[in-house]
Amino acid sequence: MIRTRFAPSPTGFLHLGGLRTALFNYLFSKKHGGRFLLRIEDTDQTRLVPGAVENIEKGLKWTGIDIDEGPHHPGSFGPYVQSERLRIYQEHAHGLVDNGHAYYCFCTSERLELLKHNQSKAGVQSMYDRRCASVATPEARARIADGQKYTVRVKVPTGGSTCVQDVLRGSVSFDNKVIDDAVLLKSDGFPTYHLASVVDDHLMRISHIIRGEEWLPSAGKHQIIYDAFGWSPPQFVHLPLLLNPDGSKLSKRQGHSSVDFYEKEGFFPESVLNFVSFLGWNPGTDREIFSKQELIDAFDLERLNKSAAIVDIEKLKWIQQQH
Ligand code: GLU
Repeated sequence: MIRTRFAPSPTGFLHLGGLRTALFNYLFSKKHGGRFLLRIEDTDQTRLVPGAVENIEKGLKWTGIDIDEGPHHPGSFGPYVQSERLRIYQEHAHGLVDNGHAYYCFCTSERLELLKHNQSKAGVQSMYDRRCASVATPEARARIADGQKYTVRVKVPTGGSTCVQDVLRGSVSFDNKVIDDAVLLKSDGFPTYHLASVVDDHLMRISHIIRGEEWLPSAGKHQIIYDAFGWSPPQFVHLPLLLNPDGSKLSKRQGHSSVDFYEKEGFFPESVLNFVSFLGWNPGTDREIFSKQELIDAFDLERLNKSAAIVDIEKLKWIQQQH
């Protein structure tokens, strides 16, 4: 069964790029009789923005992107919230230490800062030097029992490369030498994005991860974590960037990039969906006006574009006139 998700971090309000990600995941699952879920990735508690979750849910509701399931009560759909699932990530992180694919790290933030400083002075890439990888697990567990603070890091293979299969981009290879032993579990017991995202995509039986191109470098790390667990990853689909008509990158902070802006300016939700569906996808015909159901029927991954998509409000105004 096709199962997709929209997994925003509530670090800001819903923006056009997020809406496009949600829409493509939604259309793809609906087209194939699958399920679409919403997952709030709030594991970086320092970056939470009050009201962001409500704003994201409101934007999805306004545009008619409905969620199919959720953890709370039967009949109430979503969202899954990562901060309510900490035990699951902790167990998985310790499990990876047990199977030899991760290790406990006791380095202080002062030591890591100094390491970073020295590496940048030497002009080399900032990476953890694996000092704690050589601490034997029983010794590490004794230190933890003594109350020492720790993180859990994944053991990246020391040689070779890691390959990610992307539906749009084919096989993308990452040199393991430049992949850091990423932290999976932080010293406050919260997982990092990398661990929580891999564990959830696996446990939630996600079949396709459709998200922005800016997450492609993370996919290399995720592949290593999938391999460490002995799991096969979902299919990855990394969508092209969104640009302003002048070629600059559409930033989340620009007024016209927030979904609220379109609602306030009186655009119809169906016109906005129609407009957003063309940001990186085309139906393969001249047709430009679609209802939501027509988009579901027409959508497929084969017609995604690799090149950046231009966000031109004039086009939206034109679409609105036709609706
Ligand atoms: N939490 C990430 C974000 O804020 C999601 C990346 C992903 O879809 O894996 O966009």
